[in-house]
Amino acid sequence: MAATMWSRATAAVFLLAAVLAPSAGAWGPFTHVAIGRAVLVRARAAKTSPLSFLQIEPNRSLFLAASMGPDLTFSVAGFGKTDRAFDRSLHDGRLGKALLAGAIAKGGSRRMAFALGWNAHLLADRVMRQPGSVIYRNVFELKPQTMQKLAGDIPGILKITIDAIRARQDPWILTTLPRVDVPQLVAGMQQVAADGASKPDAKLEARLAGYAESFADSLATLREICRTLAANKRAFPDLASELTDSPEGKIGQVPGMINLERIVHDRLAATIPAGFAPSQEEGAATEARPATGFFARVTASLTRRSRAVLTGDGFVSRVSRGLLDGVVGAMNALGVGQERTRRARVVATYLGEMMAGRRDWPAVKAAVRAAAEGAQDASAADDEEDRVIPDGPP
Ligand SMILES: [Zn+2]
Repeated sequence: MAATMWSRATAAVFLLAAVLAPSAGAWGPFTHVAIGRAVLVRARAAKTSPLSFLQIEPNRSLFLAASMGPDLTFSVAGFGKTDRAFDRSLHDGRLGKALLAGAIAKGGSRRMAFALGWNAHLLADRVMRQPGSVIYRNVFELKPQTMQKLAGDIPGILKITIDAIRARQDPWILTTLPRVDVPQLVAGMQQVAADGASKPDAKLEARLAGYAESFADSLATLREICRTLAANKRAFPDLASELTDSPEGKIGQVPGMINLERIVHDRLAATIPAGFAPSQEEGAATEARPATGFFARVTASLTRRSRAVLTGDGFVSRVSRGLLDGVVGAMNALGVGQERTRRARVVATYLGEMMAGRRDWPAVKAAVRAAAEGAQDASAADDEEDRVIPDGPP
C-alpha cells in the first residue's frame, strides 16, 4: 500500500514535470472536457443547433472523451509527450479534417461525435495558444529572464491549476474517461499520409492502442493532483482568483474562456453540412431513449453517489500530500544550485506546497519564487562552464 502511494506521489511530480514541456498543448485534459461540456450547453440553448445530436448517449460521452484524445501521447512513464512528432500529427489540422470528412461520408452519429470531439480539442488549443493568454500569467512574480527560462513550465503549472479550477466548478469533468476510436483514427491518419504522399505507418494501430492505455493511466494520476489542489483551502482560492476574473473572492471565469467556447461551438456547428442527419443505426437508438421509472431513479442516484466519492477529497490525496512533501525535500536537496534541475525544483515546490496545504498563497508563491530564482547565479556559472574557457578560479 505504502509503496503504491509513494510511486503515485513520485509519479505525480514527474507527471507534472512532463506536462510542462514547452511544446505541450494549450490546455489541460480536463479543461478540454469542460470546454466540451460548455459547447453542449450552447448547442442545447440554440435549439436548432446541428450539434444537438450530441445531447444523447453515447454521442455525448464519445464527444467529451474524444476531446481529450489529441494529447494521448502524454505519459507518466515517458515523462511527457513521449513522441513529439507523433503528437504533432495528432494535433495536425489535416487529421481533424480527415476525421470529419470520413464521418460525413460514412454517416453515423458515433463517428461524427468522435470527429467533433477531436476537432473541439484542436480548435481550443489553437484559439488559446496566443500571447496574453491566461496560461502565460506571471503569478509567481518571477524576473523576466526567469520567466523566459521557465517558458514551458509556468504555463504547464497554470494549465493543471486551471484544470483544478474548472473541476472545482464542475467535478464531473474529472470523471470523464478518455476513449480513443483507434480504427477511425487509423483511417484518418492514413488519409493524411496518403494526401502527403508519405508512407502509411504499418504499426499505427498498435501504437495508438498503446498510447491510449498509458494516457488513461496518466490521467488517473492527474485526476488525483487536480482534486488535491482544489482541496487546498489555504492557498488555492487566492491562486484561483489570480487566474480568473474573480468576483468578491469567489472563483470566477477563466479569462477568454466564454469567447473560446463560443468559437468552438460555432466552428463545429459550421463543419456539419446542411441537411446532414447522423444515423443512429449503430446501436445508439436504445441508449438514446431516456429511462424512466423506479430503476432509472435508483441507478441515477447511485451514479451520482459514486461520482461524489470519485470527486471527493479522499484518503489517497491525504496520503499523497504527506509523501509529496518528502519528494519536494529530496528534489530540493538534490537540485540546489543546479540550472538543469531548476524546472524540477519549481514544479516539485509548487506541487509539494499546494498538496501539503499548510501555507497561504503568498508563502507558496515565495517558496516557488525562491526555487525558481535561487539558481540564478549558479546558472550563470553553468553557462560559463559550458563555454569551456577557464578564465581563472570560480
Ligand atoms: Zn492538445
